[in-house]
Parts: sequence; C-alpha cells; structure tokens
Amino acid sequence: MSTYDITIIGSGPGGYVAAIRCAQLGMKTAIIEKYDTLGGTCLNVGCIPSKALLDSSEHFHNATHNFEEHGIDVTGVQANITQMINRKNAVVEQTTKGIQFLMDKNKIDVHYGLGSFVDKNTVKVTDKDGKETTLSTKNVIIATGSKPNFFPGMEPDKKRIITSTEALNLTEIPKKMLVIGGGVIGLELGSVYSRLGTQVEVVEFANKIIPTMDSTMSKELTRVLKKAGFKFHLQHKVQSVKNTGKGVSLTALNKKDEEVTMEADYCLVAVGRKAYTEGLGLENIGLKTNDRGQVEVNEHLQTSIPNVYAIGDVIKGAMLAHKAEEEGVFVAELLAGQKPHINYNLIPGVVYTWPEVAAVGKTEEELREAGVEIKIGSFPIKALGRARASMDIQGTVKIIADAATDEVLGVHMVAPRAADLIMEAVTAMEYRASAEDMARICHPHPTYSEAVKEAALAATDNRPLHV
Ligand code: FAD
Ligand code: NAD
Repeated sequence: MSTYDITIIGSGPGGYVAAIRCAQLGMKTAIIEKYDTLGGTCLNVGCIPSKALLDSSEHFHNATHNFEEHGIDVTGVQANITQMINRKNAVVEQTTKGIQFLMDKNKIDVHYGLGSFVDKNTVKVTDKDGKETTLSTKNVIIATGSKPNFFPGMEPDKKRIITSTEALNLTEIPKKMLVIGGGVIGLELGSVYSRLGTQVEVVEFANKIIPTMDSTMSKELTRVLKKAGFKFHLQHKVQSVKNTGKGVSLTALNKKDEEVTMEADYCLVAVGRKAYTEGLGLENIGLKTNDRGQVEVNEHLQTSIPNVYAIGDVIKGAMLAHKAEEEGVFVAELLAGQKPHINYNLIPGVVYTWPEVAAVGKTEEELREAGVEIKIGSFPIKALGRARASMDIQGTVKIIADAATDEVLGVHMVAPRAADLIMEAVTAMEYRASAEDMARICHPHPTYSEAVKEAALAATDNRPLHV
C-alpha cells in the first residue's frame, strides 16, 4: 500500500493547485482523477474551452460586422464550426497535458480512477477496468467540484436539451437556441452562438440577467446584448422543455402567469451548478452533505473529520476556478503550519461577453441594504480616445466608495478587457485604497484603464476630466 502525507481527490483547479503547493512544501502527495485527463471542469469543459470558442466566434463577428468600417474588405466569410471545435479541443489537450507535466515536475503521484473513502486514513482508487489500488494517507482534500444543475421539467437529454458540456461540442450552428438562465454560462455560450448567427433567446426566472451582479451592470449588459440580437424573456418560470425530434418546445409561465410556448433547435439549460460528491464514500467516514449537496467546512476549510479538508465548487461560496485555487493553496499552507488567509470579499467575478463584465467587492444594492453611506463615480467607455480608436465604445465603469472615508468598497464594469482591468481595483482594494488614491495614480494614455481613473475621479469629488 502506498503511503502519503496528503491525498487529493479531484484534479480541477482546486485539486491540482493544492497538489503543487503541498509538494512544494515537502509533502508526499497523491492526486486522484476519475477521468482520463487532468484539470477538471475548468480545463476540460469549462473556463478554457468556453474562452476558446468565445475568441473564435468574436473573430468571426468582427470579420462580418466590423472589418468593413476598419477598411478591410473581405467576402465569403464562413463560420466553420468543425474547425472551431477542433481548435478548442487542441487548446484543451495542450492545457490538460500541461497539468500532467506539472504533476511530474513536482513528483506528485497521479492515480486515475474513482477515489472513495475506506476510512479517514485510507482512500481506494477504482480504475475503469475495476482494478483497485489502496492509498494510506495522513490527510485528505476533497476537491471533487460540481456538475450542471437542472430542475424538474428541464432534464437535459444531452441531444437537444443540453448543458454547457454539450454546447461546447455542437456539430452545427443552430438557427435558434433557447437558453434557460441568464447567468454566466447562458450569456457566455449564448454569445458564442449569437455571434455565429444563431437567434438566441434567454428565459430567465429573475427580473434581470446576471442577477447577483450590480444592477447597473445588468442594465448595461442587457442593452449591449439586445443590440447584438439577444432576446430576453425575464420573469419567466419554465414549466417544461421537450425534445420534439428536430428541436425543442419549451413552456413557461410569464409574470402574468400566462402560459407561453417557444420553439427552437436546441435548449441550453444553464441554471447553476451543484456540488458533486457521488461515489466518494463520505458515509464511510461519517460525513454528510448539507441540503445543497455541499461538503460543510469550518473557517480552516476543515470538515468535521479533522484530517479531511474540502475546497472549490464542492463547498460553499463562488463557483470560480480562482477561488478553488486560492483554497487549494490555503489548505496546503495550513497543513505546513503556516497562517494563510483568503479575502473572500475580494474574489473578482467576470462574465466573458463582449464587452466583458467584471466586478469586485460589494454591489450598490448590497451596500444600500446594509445601510452604508456611499458615493458613486461612473465613467462611460465611449468617452475614451482608446475606445473610439478601436470602435469598442460600449460599457461603463462604476466605483463605489464609503461616503465618509472614501475607501473603495466595490468596482463594477462593463468594458472591453474588463477581465484584465478589474485587477487594478482588486489590488487597490487589497491595500484598502481610497477613491482618491486610485484617481491620483497615473494611467497610460490611451488605454481602457483611463476609465477606472476617471470613475475614481468622479467618485472622489465629482471631477472627471473627460466628460
Ligand atoms: P472541478 O474543476 O469541477 O474538478 C473536480 C474534479 O474532480 C473533476 O475532474 C472530476 O472528474 C473529479 N472527481 C470528482 N469526483 C471524483 C472522485 N470520486 N474521484 C476522482 N475524481 C473525482 N470559472 C472561472 O473562474 N472562470 C471562468 O471563465 C469559468 N468558466 C466556466 C465555463 C463553464 C462552461 C463552466 C461549466 C464553468 C466555468 N467556470 C469558470 C467554473 C470553474 O470551472 C469551476 O469553478 C472550477 O472548475 C472548480 O474547480 P474545482 O477544482 O473545485 O472542481
Ligand atoms: P448562474 O448562477 O451564473 O446563473 C444561473 C441563472 O439561472 C440565474 O440568472 C438564475 O436566476 C437563473 N435560473 C435559476 N433557476 C431558473 C429557472 N428555473 N428558470 C429560469 N432561470 C433560472 O449559473 P450558471 O450560468 O449555470 O453557471 C454556474 C456556475 O459556473 C456559476 O456559479 C459561475 O460562477 C460558474 N461559471 C463562471 C464563469 C466565469 O467566471 N466567467 C463562466 C461560466 C460559469
């Protein structure tokens, strides 16, 4: 039997990063993955493949919509979905092989197969052929991630009623696609197909899209996506979706409780994800999941079994790759006797539409509800020289600061490259910057980052320079 200091179950961004940090800190480390490739949801069917298709579809959209105005004449532009998917697959293969390389480099033992608890210090790995290997271990990290969620009546058949995983592998460009859920996945994968010419209609239960983000961003993104051709059915409660053979038929109740029917080629179900613990044998160590299916942990990410920890999508909190990674490092350093810290308030969130949406800290709604006195500075992207030069003029940056102290409490933006721009705000907030601190930093011209400075100037003393 192999003996380890730490065994990590699941090789997503939580698990593989935890493994690297544990190995760096001198622990004899094993990682178990039930699929044939490492990297979990993020690398195989999440972050990386979705961004690969978002980039390809954006190039197509630019070629068909923006090149002419830039003075580039192209004719006969066609979207080749097969090549787009092939390129995406190549990116995934390269990236997942990179994780295998990192495991080898750090002398981490990789065991392929389903990991399950025999007892709190013994984990069994059952491979595809049923062969069992038993690992003895001092500590365990559960990093088994999540799977797509759905509600009664919208069960995916993976053919016409699909999840994100199938939407990343379609062999045709649909004429029409219904998307249940106007959250991150619905809008990102909806954008991919909308740019390729699909008529995308989003059916959303709430009264706005990206409902957990700042309302101003939701409004701005709604405007942008409507202009791009999206149709939104807000406050619609889906009753059922059926595969009709050649397509789908969806019925929902609108806000007046009237039944409405919609038809399309495909229906993407994107109503959130749920923690995944199937086959883990939690019962063998006396661990129960909570009513959301998550593994409960304390502030040290430790379960009620002291040598068993859990991280990433399988526990509470934002289901984000970078959150899972931070938690992996946290547990490794804690086990090594260090005193790590995660600032959960400063985990940025991004939606990779175009323009992108990015946020950090509190929303205006959260702060008002908490009774915090705030001041807000905003700046429109269209006022930037850089934006006009590139023809990317949509979006806005909003900075919320404490009215009394000027401390920045939240930064929200819809902007070209917002995913990268947000890091200035994360850094500033990590050092508890005031809006004036941000406003006084010299920003290069011409860049989109000038919108952050201008919004900070607006928040400080209502003194933006370029509007
Ligand atoms: P996962 O990545 O889910 O990994 C868990 C791994 O554990 C899997 O490989 C699974 O096979 C394995 N496993 C499960 N049970 C067992 C077992 N018993 N034995 C062995 N192995 C097991 N997040 C972002 O931050 N940015 C993005 O742009 C982004 N885009 C996304 C796009 C899509 C379409 C989707 C679906 C998700 C996206 N996410 C994104 C979310 C991100 O993928 C997850 O938050 C992240 O992967 C969670 O990491 P994790 O390590 O907790 O779990
Ligand atoms: P989500 O929570 O972002 O959005 C789900 C949406 O579905 C919400 O708007 C919700 O109101 C709506 N909804 C819920 N039940 C519904 C119903 N019955 N009918 C109609 N609408 C309903 O979830 P998601 O888009 O599925 O993404 C899952 C997770 O994956 C998210 O937590 C996200 O963090 C992560 N993810 C992140 C990224 C990124 O960071 N760019 C990209 C993709 C996914």
